[in-house]
Amino acid sequence: MGNVHELNYLKEKIEDLKKEGTYRKLPVLEGANQAEILLNGRKVINLSSNNYLGFANHPRLKKAAIEAVEKYGVGSGAVRTIVGNMSIHEELERVLSEFKKEEAAFIYQSGFNCNAGTIQAITEAGDLIISDELNHASIIDGTRLSRADKKIFKHSDMDELEQILKENRDKYRNMLIITDGVFSMDGDIAKLPEIVELAEKYEAMTYVDDAHGSGVLGENGRGTVDHFGLHGRVDFTIGTLSKAIGVVGGYVAGSNTMYEWLNHRARPVLFSTSLPPAAVGAIIEAIKMLKESSEYTEKVWNNARYFKEKLGKLGFNTGKSETPITPVIIGDEAKSMEFSKNLLDRGVFVSAIVFPTVPRGTGRVRCMITAEHTEEQLDRAVEIFRQVGEEMNILG
Ligand SMILES: *Cc1c(COP(=O)(O)O)cnc(C)c1O
Repeated sequence: MGNVHELNYLKEKIEDLKKEGTYRKLPVLEGANQAEILLNGRKVINLSSNNYLGFANHPRLKKAAIEAVEKYGVGSGAVRTIVGNMSIHEELERVLSEFKKEEAAFIYQSGFNCNAGTIQAITEAGDLIISDELNHASIIDGTRLSRADKKIFKHSDMDELEQILKENRDKYRNMLIITDGVFSMDGDIAKLPEIVELAEKYEAMTYVDDAHGSGVLGENGRGTVDHFGLHGRVDFTIGTLSKAIGVVGGYVAGSNTMYEWLNHRARPVLFSTSLPPAAVGAIIEAIKMLKESSEYTEKVWNNARYFKEKLGKLGFNTGKSETPITPVIIGDEAKSMEFSKNLLDRGVFVSAIVFPTVPRGTGRVRCMITAEHTEEQLDRAVEIFRQVGEEMNILG
């Protein structure tokens, strides 16, 4: 019996990680997250961020953040329900609801706690949550926090979804279908028109987590619901303010009734301090920029098409992506890790994604293309992919 405070049970688990080769150190970024970064002391092309539009270090957002700090300070000082609800938070919700063409938008401190807080608040015992098997971890956690029952359908399998809806319609009061709008590991888009039709047929509610779609898909980045012209037919649309928008935070857009209820029952809003003014000011500016011009969204799509086409021509397998998320599928886990390491040695940072994040045997590196990448940077990255691909014998 050792001393319990030495945390030996954790030390043993950490040793296990080292034995199975999954122990890692975090990469360290020296400076802003942009198209080329200083990583562990070296300048490399960054193909790993969610900073789709290049807003994370944009001068207009920085200026807006500083102005918000001058006016409101660095912290909001309390949870929103006490005295942390500033006029700038209310302004952001107005701006977001207008941008998303919904009655209301309710903001959270992150996309993660938006899912954790919303799902729990809008469901209860006697309800059924029906969730795509590839939904994000924060949806899984939100579902675990809910007292509702849950069923999982195979990824984008509309027959199985209908089967579940049909079998359970009479057993539950409310059914809630939850899906990612864009799936982050493959870059495919949810079959939203079919999901909405099934939901209407069986009187279920719909909940779309559009973390990777907002700021990317639809008119000026209005998201997956806009992309499919489904305004008014999705009950809850989640967006992050930390990916394309470049800052931090999350929100759910929907009806006034939704807003009123979350205002009273969303636990991250009742029990956690609201977003800092700098973040809120920068986000308001980002939404303004998206409304003003489609140049940012057009640029990210053009860059993604350019990059995908070049990789495809070389014989890389870029999977079934329909968005700027560009997986390069290698298969073998160890080989995927080695590919990523060799790319980094040559000057391209792109993370390997392997089991359990994706199914066994579908290891990959995932390239995240942004509006900020120049053609020269993309060409340089493609050339490095070619060299390493040839050396490792993974070109088709
Ligand atoms: C990234 C992501 C989140 C979490 O968003 P954060 O703002 O980073 O907390 C939630 N859902 C999905 C689908 C995501 O991809």
